[in-house]
Amino acid sequence: MPRPAAGGRIGALLGAMTLAEKIGQLTMQTADMAISGPGGLTSEYLDAVRAGGVGSMLNLWGAGRVRELQRIAVEETRLGIPLLFGFDVVHGHRTVFPVPLAEAAAFDAGLWERTARAAALEAAADGLSLTFAPMLDVARDPRWGRIVEGPGEDPLVARRFAAAKVRGFQGGDLAAHGSIAATAKHLVGYGAALAGRDYAQADISERELREVYLPPFADAVAAGAAAIMPSFNDLAGVPMTAHRPLLRDLLRGQWGFDGVLISDYNAIAELVQHGVAADLAEAAALALEAGVDIDMMAGAYTRGLPAALERGRIDVALVDEAVRRVLALKERLGLLDDPFGRGVEPSPEPEKAHRALAREAARRSLVLLKNDADVLPLREGARLAVIGPLADAPGEMRGSWYGAGRAEETVSILEGLRAALPGASIAHAKGVAIDGEGPEDVAAAVAAARAADIVLLCLGEAAAMSGEAACRAEPGLPGRQEELAEAVLAAGRPVVLLLACGRPLVASRIIASSAAVLVTWFPGSEGGHAVAEVLRGRANPSGRLPVSWPVATGQIPIFFARRPTGRPADPELHYTSKYLDVPTEPLFPFGHGLSYGRFALEDLRCSAGEVAAGGRLDIEVDLANEGTVAGLQTVFLFIRDPVASVARPVLELKGWQTRWLEPGDRTTLRFELSVDELAFLGPDLAPRLEEGGIEILAGPSADRSLLLSTSVRVVKGRAR
Ligand code: BGC
Repeated sequence: MPRPAAGGRIGALLGAMTLAEKIGQLTMQTADMAISGPGGLTSEYLDAVRAGGVGSMLNLWGAGRVRELQRIAVEETRLGIPLLFGFDVVHGHRTVFPVPLAEAAAFDAGLWERTARAAALEAAADGLSLTFAPMLDVARDPRWGRIVEGPGEDPLVARRFAAAKVRGFQGGDLAAHGSIAATAKHLVGYGAALAGRDYAQADISERELREVYLPPFADAVAAGAAAIMPSFNDLAGVPMTAHRPLLRDLLRGQWGFDGVLISDYNAIAELVQHGVAADLAEAAALALEAGVDIDMMAGAYTRGLPAALERGRIDVALVDEAVRRVLALKERLGLLDDPFGRGVEPSPEPEKAHRALAREAARRSLVLLKNDADVLPLREGARLAVIGPLADAPGEMRGSWYGAGRAEETVSILEGLRAALPGASIAHAKGVAIDGEGPEDVAAAVAAARAADIVLLCLGEAAAMSGEAACRAEPGLPGRQEELAEAVLAAGRPVVLLLACGRPLVASRIIASSAAVLVTWFPGSEGGHAVAEVLRGRANPSGRLPVSWPVATGQIPIFFARRPTGRPADPELHYTSKYLDVPTEPLFPFGHGLSYGRFALEDLRCSAGEVAAGGRLDIEVDLANEGTVAGLQTVFLFIRDPVASVARPVLELKGWQTRWLEPGDRTTLRFELSVDELAFLGPDLAPRLEEGGIEILAGPSADRSLLLSTSVRVVKGRAR
């Protein structure tokens, strides 16, 4: 197992530390309970810092406040070890980018990296040195509120998201200007929480764990992630915070992760509630043995570790090992050399650039689900009615974990439309509140709809309805929004439904009755401008669903990479794998998303008909813009192994490409697949490559009927 170097500055510090100071380095305090005092911090709290009892901080940012606290740590503690300042910089900091699920819809790793870089720059300017992001939990259950925080249902998307975000946050050098440490979270299985309920148990087969849930973390480690956070859930009975086989043996041992493991909020103390520890001492011992270095918030290490040591339950060498890793991270971050390097106000220039990036990211994340009779883009001179509780709700546009983002610096949809169409007739009516609380005026909304040529109906969730502890057993339109929609639809004008959401919403009836549907998600600071650009045709929509969009709640969990059944769904036959009351397919498949105009895909071909171990395939397909509007088109590459020693998914995503095409343009997309990517885990869970045919498919989404297909044979021997 790799161990941090023992000697040098870190070894010297460790040698000089008391046990309390060591445990202090393993303790992350939150500012929430402390910010009420003078200067933002209570004296009790400052005393703990002065005594060396705190190694890192959570939820405290702002150049001035960080500097003052850092000064105390450096000048007024015995050893002068600087603090590490961590915060949830999830999708932006002062500039808010679209929520991660929305950004995933852009299918652009370069964009994912650039927004993380911008967020890191702003966070570092605010004194922060570490973010609790990216969240890499594959999520296939939109009841789970935290689906909004990650890149959706597919492990390959999550893997690429992992690498891009780690690169963006950390840059090439953690000590360099504008870099912050990334924390890949939550390891592992949190997205598979039972029945979509937060913090609930997860039971995942070994195969699914290795094929779906673990790979994004392996990629984060390979990209150099400085920290990892174990998840709140238990996995088959073992809480992840105490999961020695996965944290110490797999993550540290096999994957060679030598960074810091940071517990989730209070998670070490919660080992008692989980029912695996009788008291804090045992909880602390279990977490430390599993390899958890930093105790976020709980006081479990401060109170539990001394007792565990006294009882002889653990050896102090384990404490030292964790302290070394924490100090090594501080060193990597440059904190030991320059504790005040972060927290320096930036010039106004990056701010402008970040707003432009926020607009680009928002534009790229919008998904046009339907557009009957080309109702969009809006015709010049059309009278608009902008209706609904999310039409002018800038605060909500930020989504969950919006960092230091401000509502007053966020552009609402109404504001964006008014700015984009200065001379246009734009009526506005809220109709109902998001959650059914508060005054309503459906009649005014209907009157506005009647007086308009086209209605933009802005419905969806409040920001706080997705994210942590925001699970919904019925993930549809909350409150009385369906009633509002029905009343407005009855006014007889074409309705463009704009859905603000942190998950796919089950709203099949209203979606069916609307002429067009645009998913805006929570698009961030520049969301209103981006939405206006797309509505009026200044931008061609290009976002694609990173999740399957269910018809009904009862279909959940739903995802495209399912295994075949012995009895495929057949509406004519009784004993087949289907529901009596709802379809088996989603309303919109993974990858779905329309643009204005028409793109055609033709002639999928493979460089060889056969391939052997060690070989490689070049796959090509032609893409043409046959419409009248320039735009971005995304093409997905899937495989299917129809006969193997274990049943393989009906589709497995192997790649995607996004290309900009002017009208009339034609191009060839090239994908490279190594034979290893045709291998899978056999019945014994060891990787194997089996002989036989493999179907190669390419198309605009996981809708099988839209995919071009060719095939290749895997044969014995080795490629020359
Ligand atoms: C969440 C983490 C987050 C932490 C700190 C926890 O409740 O699960 O994702 O990083 O709080 O805010």
